[in-house]
Amino acid sequence: MRILVVGGAGFVGSTSVETFLEAGHDVVVYDDLSSGHAAAVVRLARLVRGQIEDQGHLEHVMREERIDAVLDCAAKSLVGESMIDPGLYYRKNVGGGVALLEAMRVTGVNRLVFSSTAAVYGEPRRVPIAESDRTEPINPYGASKLAFEGAMRWFAASHDFQAISLRYFNVAGATERNGEDHEPETHLMPLMLRVAAGEATHVQIFGQDYPTPDGTCIRDFIHVRDLAAAHLRALEVTGEGDPSFEVYNLGSAAGFSVREVVEAARKVTGRAIPARVVKRRTGDPPVLVASSRRARLALGWHPEHSKLEQMLADAWSWKLTHPNGYGRGPRTDGAALDRQPSDARGDRQISRPGAPASV
Ligand code: UDP
Repeated sequence: MRILVVGGAGFVGSTSVETFLEAGHDVVVYDDLSSGHAAAVVRLARLVRGQIEDQGHLEHVMREERIDAVLDCAAKSLVGESMIDPGLYYRKNVGGGVALLEAMRVTGVNRLVFSSTAAVYGEPRRVPIAESDRTEPINPYGASKLAFEGAMRWFAASHDFQAISLRYFNVAGATERNGEDHEPETHLMPLMLRVAAGEATHVQIFGQDYPTPDGTCIRDFIHVRDLAAAHLRALEVTGEGDPSFEVYNLGSAAGFSVREVVEAARKVTGRAIPARVVKRRTGDPPVLVASSRRARLALGWHPEHSKLEQMLADAWSWKLTHPNGYGRGPRTDGAALDRQPSDARGDRQISRPGAPASV
């Protein structure tokens, strides 16, 4: 397959790119590098810098690269930011997503996997959450992802797309080559590892008065390697059967509390990681755990790397080898995919027609 990974320079996208290449597929990454990193893209994948809402540019890339299938990981994904600037989330996640769908329709590419979110469910009425449960997002981020799923559904129906949306909660871990490097960082695990590395004095625990066994929130963490495997499996499945739109949750089925995560991080890193309980963060439901039964049955997928200790150990190892994230250090650390002889395509960039190459 020749796969276009939109948003392939981000955490989830870049690790999926690694998995696709290892499985023998050809990959082109399309990313505006607004939050992703050029250094996260292995050399065997071609990197094209472009905006998701630029339909003409997407069409050009799809045609020139003879793309068979698309993985869409490009999204604005900060809940807090979405509350402050919902327009940005609708422009990028919905408007940009529809430009991508139109580019696919025009060029005849009809296989799509979408990296969605369990935020589409909002406050769950029961856990684990099933795909058939009510979707009532409580922030513009979740609402924009759900709106795009609606567009996918109708493109599948009207234009014979085979489309799969994968919904998940908290992504963790790292590969040897790629890990989490966000600015600003808001997520629990990388923040804890910053404390372990001596970059911050303590981690905050947002509330210890939730109706859970230890009073802290319970979350469903999934290793980014498992997520990448699910993306690959879903892309393969889009080549089989009739046009359709399917939704699958991806989760580890066992949630971990914030306290458990902090304790496990202390063990894995051997560092103290001081924690201070502060007041609840607005919008945090007590328990978020997804049932991935459907994904197991239909995709034959099950999480193999999502043990809490392994996710933390892999993330810690990446942190130690990349103390400044992608800001410093060689582009090639530990990466067989980077060492393989390049056919020189990896260094060639496609520019927008009539515009200079921009990466
Ligand atoms: N959390 C916390 N301290 C932090 C960051 C997060 O206690 O510094 C908690 C947060 O309240 C939630 C869980 O950790 O219950 C996971 O939050 P995160 O921001 O990592 O991911 P989210 O679930 O919001 O996508």
